[in-house]
Amino acid sequence: MAGRRRGGDGARPCPACGTPTLAQWVGTTAALHATVDLPGPDEPRPWAAALLHRTPNNLIWCLPRPRYGPLRLRWTHARHPPDCPHQHLTSHTCTPAPTTLF
Ligand SMILES: [Zn+2]
Ligand SMILES: [Zn+2]
Repeated sequence: MAGRRRGGDGARPCPACGTPTLAQWVGTTAALHATVDLPGPDEPRPWAAALLHRTPNNLIWCLPRPRYGPLRLRWTHARHPPDCPHQHLTSHTCTPAPTTLF
């Protein structure tokens, strides 16, 4: 088990735009580093809605919310149960706040 960082759930704001994100390695055999937008724990993120945003370069991650312990993104597959109650997240798309330089 990866328990190097204790006391946190792994969430951190994007350094560029400040959006709450969760970044971690996902998978056991072929790990992929994922950074996803992290919605509030009560925001519904149904699987069907996430499917609309799926592209070959934008996978969908399943995020169970354990009552205790760190958040762990889970790899999803084509046969992910459509009624899965967890949050389903796509990669963070960085949209830095516009500056007044231009
Ligand atoms: Zn799921
Ligand atoms: Zn960002």
